[in-house]
Amino acid sequence: MGNANETIFDKILAGAIPCHRVYEDDRVLAFLDVNPISFGHTLVIPKERAAYLHELSDESSAAIGRVLPRICRAVLQASGAKAYNLLQNNGSSAHQAVFHVHFHIIPRLADSGLGMEWTPTRLVPEIAAELLEKMRAALSALP
Ligand code: 5GP
Repeated sequence: MGNANETIFDKILAGAIPCHRVYEDDRVLAFLDVNPISFGHTLVIPKERAAYLHELSDESSAAIGRVLPRICRAVLQASGAKAYNLLQNNGSSAHQAVFHVHFHIIPRLADSGLGMEWTPTRLVPEIAAELLEKMRAALSALP
């Protein structure tokens, strides 16, 4: 943690680059995406500098979790959307362009919203068992 490089979001947090500020508290900032893919597209970021979600402190994670549904309600009311997606990219191969944790709130409207490719397969019991063993070991090794 704490090794992330400075990004454009640090400049927004510092007020050096303007943004359309939707919400702010001690740990969280929400603002409109400068290139919205639908009306109301909003970004929610921690003030803590961390590139990826799995690097974020419990304190910042909790602060975001506390206000995210509230900001979603505001986005729904303002955009008139009835549906929306939350998108949170980690890694350039997962379409992350700004390496500071951020959640996209993307209203789904008749003609715009998040496009998605989703190719389900079937979970194989042996693979599930192997995964569970590894994931539980990883979780129990965490502080
Ligand atoms: P990512 O692909 O990293 O998940 O998305 C980064 C998002 O940040 C993009 O949707 C992009 O439009 C937005 N963004 C990048 N630079 C700025 C900026 O300077 N201001 C605002 N408001 N949004 C930005």
